[in-house]
Amino acid sequence: MAHSLQKVLTNMQGPEGPSLQVKALTHIQNGGYIVEMATTEAATWVRDPIRKLILTESLGGNVQVKDRTYNLLIPFVPITTRIDNQAILRNIERTNNIPTNSIVQMKWIKDPCRRERNQRVAHALMSLNIPQAANKLIEHGLYLDHGRLRPRKDKREPIRCLKCQHWGHMAKACPEEKDTCGTCGGEHRHSNCNSYRTFFCVNCRTNEHSSSNKECPEYILQRDALNAHTPENLMPYFLTEEPWTQVSLPPKSSEPIIHSQPPPPSTPHNRSPAPMEQRRLDDGMTSEKSQSATHSIHHQWKDSCSSWTEHHQALAHQGPQHTPQ
Ligand SMILES: [Zn+2]
Ligand SMILES: [Zn+2]
Ligand SMILES: [Zn+2]
Repeated sequence: MAHSLQKVLTNMQGPEGPSLQVKALTHIQNGGYIVEMATTEAATWVRDPIRKLILTESLGGNVQVKDRTYNLLIPFVPITTRIDNQAILRNIERTNNIPTNSIVQMKWIKDPCRRERNQRVAHALMSLNIPQAANKLIEHGLYLDHGRLRPRKDKREPIRCLKCQHWGHMAKACPEEKDTCGTCGGEHRHSNCNSYRTFFCVNCRTNEHSSSNKECPEYILQRDALNAHTPENLMPYFLTEEPWTQVSLPPKSSEPIIHSQPPPPSTPHNRSPAPMEQRRLDDGMTSEKSQSATHSIHHQWKDSCSSWTEHHQALAHQGPQHTPQ
């Protein structure tokens, strides 16, 4: 794969364009690859939609080239926010002083069909293609609708099968024939559950909680084991070359959410590395020599309202990700 990809990129390289050297190719669990280009210029060059199409064709047509994303979990987004609207996303970028088109998409974590009647806010997932932009939102908060929200890095979570509710595999690889409900343990899909306040955890075999409960001792064991193998899970920021992102302490701020406007871009920062971060974001990172901007290539997967959670768990295989709660 590495050889053929480099060959295709070398063929695409023009006299005017940057050198398209691949720095690293990492095989990921869902069968895809993360491609790390040697320079930011090369990654930006490949990100162009037309070039992505040419690359896809040149690689045989049955692969998908996607921007690598850095995902944030954003609690308490007003449900009136049109997060599927591109113009709204551009507006969010402007308000928060992050580069145009750095937000790839936003999605509701939970299917909007399953909202409570009087629900006003919901958790959303934001995917960005620039780690510095994601880090900026973690650090400064996300200004939205005259309010300030507290995004956090979407961490990799243990995989739980949505068919049998056991850990370590996904439904498409499940050996069981029948569905087991994640709430009551009955023989039906979770989405068809009619039980009222009846819980059963198939892993602990207890009525104390549901199979998806974050207090479940079995979940805690699985999570701790995963964290032991995934040190970046314990880091609040996405790793970049800036040393201040390479920390395992939570973000400093516990200040109340009172601001209604973001600080102007020129506001002096109370931490020494931040002006550099600001500069990087302001100049669109074009002048940085070797930022590890990356792309991921993976095979097609489907996305629909009903299969969303499954799809989301599938995503969890490919990097720091989040499992719905
Ligand atoms: Zn299963
Ligand atoms: Zn049920
Ligand atoms: Zn349990």
